[in-house]
Amino acid sequence: MKIIVCAKQVPDTNEVKLDPKTGTLIREGIPSIINPDDRNALEEALRIKDKFENENERVEVVVLTMGPPQADVALREALAMGADRAILLCDRKFAGSDTWATAHAIAWTIDKIGGYDLVFCGRQAIDGDTAQVGPQVAEYLNLPQVTYVRRLDIERDGGTVTVERALEDGYEVIETRLPCLLTAVKELNVPRYPSMRGIFDAYGEKQVEVWSADDVGIDPSVIGLKASPTNVRRVFTPEPRGKGIMLEGSGKEAVQNLFAQLREKRIV
Ligand SMILES: Cc1cc2nc3c(=O)[nH]c(=O)nc-3n(C[C@H](O)[C@H](O)[C@H](O)COP(=O)(O)OP(=O)(O)OC[C@H]3O[C@@H](n4cnc5c(N)ncnc54)[C@H](O)[C@@H]3O)c2cc1C
Repeated sequence: MKIIVCAKQVPDTNEVKLDPKTGTLIREGIPSIINPDDRNALEEALRIKDKFENENERVEVVVLTMGPPQADVALREALAMGADRAILLCDRKFAGSDTWATAHAIAWTIDKIGGYDLVFCGRQAIDGDTAQVGPQVAEYLNLPQVTYVRRLDIERDGGTVTVERALEDGYEVIETRLPCLLTAVKELNVPRYPSMRGIFDAYGEKQVEVWSADDVGIDPSVIGLKASPTNVRRVFTPEPRGKGIMLEGSGKEAVQNLFAQLREKRIV
């Protein structure tokens, strides 16, 4: 069995700050991490590996990142957690790619890796935040997809997977055939920490394979700025809201005060 996990390296912040002049992310001084949802996807792949290898079926977990050379660190961490193989898709030809072109590049690479049963993405990256890449990759690869996966169970003999898909006020149970693409949410599991042995291996015997667009054989017309139909017109930080009002006095006085103010504003 082969599971491919798409993991993006992102700045370690939920409050991405923007340069108001250039409209680009301010990355200086912010350490990079594996995108949190992708860490859940990786953890689930490793749990499937643990389970099936206990039953004597070999499972290969391959982690794939498209990013700059610095993303090597994120891939080493994935190897230290227990991934078998790490691939860094890295080429200046990808510069300026929007989600459409990024998904195209990732889909071609998954196709090149081949022989997979499951492709796992995170629901959403905490910097770009679009949640588009997973579903787009599934469309390119013509795979069934289930997003927002919070629980899963693989039925190996039947070649199917049954998942719980998180909804705002509950969940739905969906069964689909393998191969398929799933996107993980944080409720799926608690990711493990790399072991000391894992860290040694990740910087020793295990390697990060660096692939260029030519290595994969990607059609140059589907990647980079020219192949990106998204046009970002304006990027801005929302204006901070006004200061809150502290209501003083006892609980009863504060409630009376609150109602008086709400009545004054004709809210009640
Ligand atoms: C017009 C435009 C130009 C851009 N130019 C650049 C640029 O020059 N340089 C640049 O770095 N970014 C650029 N970006 C941003 C880049 O397109 C996005 O970072 C990328 O497409 C991922 O989108 P997202 O962050 O919204 O991920 P989401 O769609 O929210 O991610 C969902 C999941 O997809 C997977 N995934 C997403 N991205 C990757 C990845 N890179 N590797 C592996 N798995 C991944 C992960 O599993 C992730 O959890 C540009 C965006 C636009 C719109």
